[in-house]
Amino acid sequence: MLSSSIPRLSLSIQNGCHQAGKCFSAFMSRKYSSEADNDLVVIGSGPGGYVAAIKAAQLGMKTVCVEKNETLGGTCLNVGCIPSKAMLNNSHLYHMAKSQDLQKRGIEFSDLKLNLDVMMDMKKNSVKALTGGIAHLFKQNKVTHLQGFGSVTGPNEVTVTKKDGSKEKVSTKNILIATGSEVTPFPGIEVDEKQIVSSTGALSLAQVPKKLILIGAGVIGVELGSVWQRLGAEVTCVEFLGHVGGMGIDMEVSKNFQRILAKQGIKFKVNTKVLGATKQGDQIKVKVEGVKDQKTEELECDTLLVCVGRRPYTEKLGLENISLKVDNKGRIPVNNRFQTSVPSVYAIGDCIAGPMLAHKAEDEGIICVEGMCGGAVHIDYNCVPSVIYTHPEVAWVGKTEEMLKEEGIDYKIGKFPLVANSRAKCNNDTDGFVKVLGDKKTDRLLGAHIIGSVAGELINEAALAMEYSASCEDIARVCHAHPTVAEAFREANLQAYCGKTINFG
Ligand SMILES: Cc1cc2nc3c(=O)[nH]c(=O)nc-3n(C[C@H](O)[C@H](O)[C@H](O)COP(=O)(O)OP(=O)(O)OC[C@H]3O[C@@H](n4cnc5c(N)ncnc54)[C@H](O)[C@@H]3O)c2cc1C
Repeated sequence: MLSSSIPRLSLSIQNGCHQAGKCFSAFMSRKYSSEADNDLVVIGSGPGGYVAAIKAAQLGMKTVCVEKNETLGGTCLNVGCIPSKAMLNNSHLYHMAKSQDLQKRGIEFSDLKLNLDVMMDMKKNSVKALTGGIAHLFKQNKVTHLQGFGSVTGPNEVTVTKKDGSKEKVSTKNILIATGSEVTPFPGIEVDEKQIVSSTGALSLAQVPKKLILIGAGVIGVELGSVWQRLGAEVTCVEFLGHVGGMGIDMEVSKNFQRILAKQGIKFKVNTKVLGATKQGDQIKVKVEGVKDQKTEELECDTLLVCVGRRPYTEKLGLENISLKVDNKGRIPVNNRFQTSVPSVYAIGDCIAGPMLAHKAEDEGIICVEGMCGGAVHIDYNCVPSVIYTHPEVAWVGKTEEMLKEEGIDYKIGKFPLVANSRAKCNNDTDGFVKVLGDKKTDRLLGAHIIGSVAGELINEAALAMEYSASCEDIARVCHAHPTVAEAFREANLQAYCGKTINFG
């Protein structure tokens, strides 16, 4: 076993306690007291803000969470992670029936129909249940929820503008900005959320498009493209970069992923730049140009999905009132305790640097408020996993081969195809593989890259192993339940550690 410093335990060690969990909560739950009316005002109730607010209240802080929208949960619960995953799951089931996959398994039926309204209702119900759940958690944990637009009017004051125009000043010891992000507009293309849509409109289309053009084949783009392709749309992805899956994806994985999606019917135009789009009645003409050969072409569709990324949202937040400036990407600069240059003001989540992911925002929220109470603040961004929830899913954590080459780190590869995994075989779901990258000298796991139906679940095992600096041998020696897809992860580590797998020749 590799010796490692285990950052998450550092606080309990610091306080001379060996029972990490027990000591930690006893230390943290001491009463937090302040002169101001409140200890903490959190602006924004996305996964960063609501999780931070609950944690702060659990640590004894008198906490207020300000949210401008009618429902809690931010982008993630309302127009992001949750509705997109509901649509991905249900469109996959429909596609299994439509593509004869279910019939091949002996499940026969006739008269298959898509009822898009019912599918949308199901999505709405998951969103409603989860956003309502946060309101309940706020009550349970005694977090005060203020509905309204929050702006920072002093280092210890937030002014909340309510729906009726009235204003409430809230005094507080600390302010936590968790205002998230918004869709990045494409210059010259106006989104109407009906014909020309952003990810938000693409989650609520009234009917299945005949032809859908997607600008941007990053994570959100390919997920939403997959939804509508499965439901019957002819989908073409136009991508400026030479690969799909966005930044941070391992190139071997990206190539295989593109091949799998192309086999499912999605067309890709990579290395292609969109020059503009014009509406002509029901149709949209999209002008594109090859990045390498500058050849132009006109494509046609009835629905255009603009999916070129997200940018931090700090509009009218009042940062100028406390002389805070955002960086050149609109992000709020913070130190390693998530503190801005104004000591009582902190920021986390999509509005600061780092990957725009819900679980990254949540983790930052928790450690940021623990830090306010005197706890250790540590996050290893190298151990933050990424997942694309298509079918198969794609997931990764840690370094890619490209990064290791660039950093001059000597590495070894362990690989196991799902076609040789017994569970994937039983499920007739064998597209994909597990690839792990280990340090050639120390055997330490440096990265894991997975394509497979349950890659998004499996990647958490890799993240846990990396957090605890496990070696490939450590993982290969852990007993894994049989038959599970996770055995493929074990086998890949076995290959990285000793050069041979058991179940693949
Ligand atoms: C279609 C889609 C799918 C996604 N899927 C995934 C996924 O599967 N997994 C994943 O990890 N990430 C996913 N993401 C990204 C994820 O949603 C974000 O990374 C996450 O929501 C960021 O959390 P946050 O708390 O920083 O901000 P947000 O969730 O954006 O929340 C910010 C909140 O602050 C509120 N607010 C802003 N300004 C003010 C103000 N002045 N006063 C009061 N309230 C204010 C906003 O109304 C909002 O509710 C997806 C995003 C999209 C768009």
